Amino acid sequence: MPSAPSESQSFRPRHLSPSSASTFRQCPRRWKLRYIDKLPDPKGEAAVLGTFVHEILEHLLTLQPDHRSIDAAKKIARELWDQVLEDEDFQALAFSDDDAKEFRWKAWRLIEKYFAIEDPTRVDVLRAEQELAVEIAGVPFFGIVDLTEQISDGIRVVDYKTGKAPSSRFVEDKLSQVWLYAAALAEQKVEVSEVRLMYLTSGSIDRPIDSQAVSQAVSSHRETWDDLCQAIDIQQFPYKTGPLCNWCPYLDHCPEGAVEAERRYGPRS
Ligand code: SF4
Repeated sequence: MPSAPSESQSFRPRHLSPSSASTFRQCPRRWKLRYIDKLPDPKGEAAVLGTFVHEILEHLLTLQPDHRSIDAAKKIARELWDQVLEDEDFQALAFSDDDAKEFRWKAWRLIEKYFAIEDPTRVDVLRAEQELAVEIAGVPFFGIVDLTEQISDGIRVVDYKTGKAPSSRFVEDKLSQVWLYAAALAEQKVEVSEVRLMYLTSGSIDRPIDSQAVSQAVSSHRETWDDLCQAIDIQQFPYKTGPLCNWCPYLDHCPEGAVEAERRYGPRS
């Protein structure tokens, strides 16, 4: 008689977000250490900065349109700063007072860039920071959509990015996140007509809805889910070394990644 599956074999994640899928594709071992073993994965400065900037924009865009001024954004940033200081990911960065000041300036410079790219008083907000938990092609999907807005010919989904824009060969890959949001919104009977990745450092990447790109993103998400379930069932999470190993929070748990990081960037201090 076949033995009953062990607890770890029968485990299934509650949902698969675009970032979790991307971690699995980048390195199954890293995914396991984070999502099954639940080892801490401190966010790092770029992600903490991104969260702060997203929160400022979220609060700004939920104001009445004619109140969305740069002074209002400043006031929101000041009000949110105390929360940032208490955030454990921010505290883990162990900033000096000068570092914290510089961090705050970096956030503010991104907000100023946002105002240079877009006039928030003209954004017709439908939803900001919308949590989506739906099943897409049999996969339990979860994502947080930064913004859905009404535009002249339909609805646009927007994801704000605080990092550097990708080079042209990686653009399609980056767009898969917003295509998935379009698929998730369609499950809720919201038909998206355009997607936008807004890089605050450099401007927007816009695409009209493209059903082929949406189904490709959905199939790829499904494929990742199937691979992930299989990895859980056979309890095999192979490592995939690469340039990102140097920034992996699990280097101390991964001898192969440590060797790779040293080969590329020299001994760790
Ligand atoms: S160090 Fe590299 S190979 Fe090891 S878990 Fe992290 S990403 Fe994967």
